[in-house]
Amino acid sequence: MTEKNTENTIEIKCPVCGDEMFLNKGGAFCDQCEIKIWRRVAKKEMTDEELRQLVEKGKVFLKGLISKAGKEFEAYLVLSVSEDGEVDTHFEFSKKDGKKKSVFGD
Ligand SMILES: [Zn+2]
Repeated sequence: MTEKNTENTIEIKCPVCGDEMFLNKGGAFCDQCEIKIWRRVAKKEMTDEELRQLVEKGKVFLKGLISKAGKEFEAYLVLSVSEDGEVDTHFEFSKKDGKKKSVFGD
């Protein structure tokens, strides 16, 4: 996976309107519907490629995240877009053993 691009820019299609998003240091932005996806999350700066995965696949696996308590963690960052075009992100943790914890107690 060491393909070299002639350009440094990655095209990211807006999840709301499908237009090409504008990328800068702050994140990915759409001029059409004015959504913003911030590059910085849990003290980590996502790469362009990570931003693209987040937008195109709806989630991206991130390592090197730092919690508010200062602990390093890894998680999926999941993107959701509401009907009125509000963009929201949240973390999703996957258990390696695949077991789901019951919410009904033990
Ligand atoms: Zn858009």
